Amino acid sequence: MEKWRGKVAIVTGASSGIGAAIVRDLAKNGITVIGLARRVQKIREQTKDFPENYANVHAFYCDVSKIESIKEAFKLIEERFGVINILVNNAGIGKKTSILVDDEETDGKISQVIDTNFTGLVHVTRHAYMLMKKSEDYGMVVNINSVAGHKVSFPYYGVPETNVYNGSKFAVTATTEYLRHELIQMKDKKVRVSSVSPGVVDTSFFHSSQMLPDNIEMRDVAPVLNPSDIADAVMYLLQVPYHVNITEMTKVFAVFT
Ligand code: NDP
Repeated sequence: MEKWRGKVAIVTGASSGIGAAIVRDLAKNGITVIGLARRVQKIREQTKDFPENYANVHAFYCDVSKIESIKEAFKLIEERFGVINILVNNAGIGKKTSILVDDEETDGKISQVIDTNFTGLVHVTRHAYMLMKKSEDYGMVVNINSVAGHKVSFPYYGVPETNVYNGSKFAVTATTEYLRHELIQMKDKKVRVSSVSPGVVDTSFFHSSQMLPDNIEMRDVAPVLNPSDIADAVMYLLQVPYHVNITEMTKVFAVFT
């Protein structure tokens, strides 16, 4: 990780779960971290629990589902930091949402899931890329995707009302792949793109989303992953030599295999 020491990283969804673990590991490695989320105070509070009091963690408000909020955050980031080197697109929500449901709330829920998990990721990446290009150093984009974003597999095929969430993650897969190829075609050797696709991780997302079938309890699919397992995967992607191109890391547990 020595090559990234002193460089600047953005982590979206930095206020809890996987994002918070990634912030912690990046900061531990001497990287300046800009955490983005709506609950800015939570990002700040978490750094107080760090073994060392990391002064290199900065919290900015950003609602990734709103383009104006993204623009505002990046304006502040550019003014304060000038360039960035790492982007971890982690913000996401896991509401049960379906094209097949006929109720008042569904329009809003569908927009929220797609705008957060996919459209937000696209806008954030575009703005981040502009700041990466300005840096003399290498850049890295890591998208926190999901096993639900690759193929229709157990337990997701058995879960009603997940066609929108899973679709938003399939879209992340496609955009990650094509972005990488376009960068290669452009001979942009400085910016790499990877993704990590977790199985079930013990976070508030999982507990509140009801993304497993009703007859499956979390304990039945144990061992679940911890947020730190996903942070480890991201650190590994950052550590490998620059000529090693790991395009995707899928973290799964026994029930999926
Ligand atoms: P958490 O609910 O613990 O964290 C979600 C994070 O996303 C929070 O920091 C939240 O911050 C942020 N977020 C949500 N909506 C927005 C928004 N509109 N703007 C900015 N930030 C937002 O969940 P996880 O840590 O589990 O989830 C992180 C990622 O991992 C997600 O992309 C999820 O799809 C993915 N994932 C999770 C799995 C799991 O089992 N937990 C499995 C597979 C993938 P705030 O509310 O403060 O804005």
